Amino acid sequence: MKGMIFDIKHYAIHDGPGIRITVFFKGCPLHCRWCHNPEGISLHRELMLMPNRCARCGDCVRSCKFGALAQKEDGEVVADRSLCTLCGDCERICQREAIALVGREMTVEDILAEVEKDRIFFDQSGGGVTLTGGEPLFQAELAEALIDRLHQVGIHVALDTSGYAPPETFLRLAGKSDLVLYDLKLMDDSQHKKFTGVSNQLILSNLKALDKTGKPIWIRFPLIPGVNDSHENLKALADFLLELKSVKKLNVLPYHKGGVEKVRRLNQDDQFEIFEPPSQAMIDSIINYFRDRGLVVKQGG
Ligand code: SF4
Ligand code: SF4
Repeated sequence: MKGMIFDIKHYAIHDGPGIRITVFFKGCPLHCRWCHNPEGISLHRELMLMPNRCARCGDCVRSCKFGALAQKEDGEVVADRSLCTLCGDCERICQREAIALVGREMTVEDILAEVEKDRIFFDQSGGGVTLTGGEPLFQAELAEALIDRLHQVGIHVALDTSGYAPPETFLRLAGKSDLVLYDLKLMDDSQHKKFTGVSNQLILSNLKALDKTGKPIWIRFPLIPGVNDSHENLKALADFLLELKSVKKLNVLPYHKGGVEKVRRLNQDDQFEIFEPPSQAMIDSIINYFRDRGLVVKQGG
């Protein structure tokens, strides 16, 4: 069993309990306009240029047999991605790590080998592994095989998901996980479609169905000023969550501009928007609102 992974982060402390390893699955059915991990949206490998690291030596341009790279007059490297075959020659030749292919095919055993390096931290901290992305359920076979394998070796598994997946698949994989981190962004369906590209109906119905199983759920609410900070949205979110029985916590995740540079590196500026991060006063006021409504809330993961 193989799949496309775009990162494995060690010592993660914001993606579930304890010290964790976070495994980033490539591919996502949503296209959130503020995405922090734009390299996780496509299921396929992608060419990324990092001009801030580039020495403008031209080695990569000369190494490319397909004419996909060129240098501008000032030496900046540019790519014609329609010509790129993802052969990796440019990545191998670059001494500055200024050009890279994002995403690598990994087996369950490859991932497990990375995970095992940190086992001592899991055992001491009550941590484990978090499957995230992208959207782990977009590569459901790999995700399921990984969950099963991690459980075979006694490692706690958290599934971080948008919930946008066929109900049967979603409930099976969420049911196998020890904890589900569930993203909720916008309660109004037309706004959800506008900012993520898909309806929220499946997401809400999957969450209700999961809630009935008693599986512990932490809700993750990415706070994007001008998108989902209206009183109407906050009230609808609180109303919805207060009807559920298995939600243990609401994590408010303030928007930051961490994805902006990655969007540029992928040359996908036209597919995303840049927002202003919320002020601490706004974050505090929203957290207080949720607390006043009776929810357990934390800033961050
Ligand atoms: S090989 Fe690396 S440092 Fe040299 S021009 Fe290409 S990206 Fe820049
Ligand atoms: S991955 Fe291969 S084809 Fe694509 S730009 Fe680099 S050298 Fe050229």
